[in-house]
Amino acid sequence: MTPTGKTVLLVEDNPHNRKIFSGMLVHSGFAVVEAEDGNQALAAVAPDKALPDVILMDLSIPGVDGWEVTRRLKADARTRPVPIIALTAHAMRGDEERARAAGCDHYLAKPISPKKVVEEVRKILGMS
Ligand code: MN
Repeated sequence: MTPTGKTVLLVEDNPHNRKIFSGMLVHSGFAVVEAEDGNQALAAVAPDKALPDVILMDLSIPGVDGWEVTRRLKADARTRPVPIIALTAHAMRGDEERARAAGCDHYLAKPISPKKVVEEVRKILGMS
């Protein structure tokens, strides 16, 4: 494993998903910061924190949901440049549009393999 020097903020409330996505990202050389709800996600990008290079955002999370977290990050000039990849199990018509309307830059529908998630992260960071 070669360190990429890149950090991913993984926002996901499902412990199993969090573990497999995080494991695959770490295995692929990424540093991973985990958040299991909206408040933790917002705390992870607070002004006293180094910003991640990319955010994987489960939209269905407790508390402040992923759509609202995304809207807040995209409304703030400091956090706006960080690409956000929506992760959603909904995969219904209009779901991708809702994610993009909230400000998500990319969209992945679950179920998705951890390998595919890493591929997408690499592509978005211009590493593939
Ligand atoms: Mn969820």
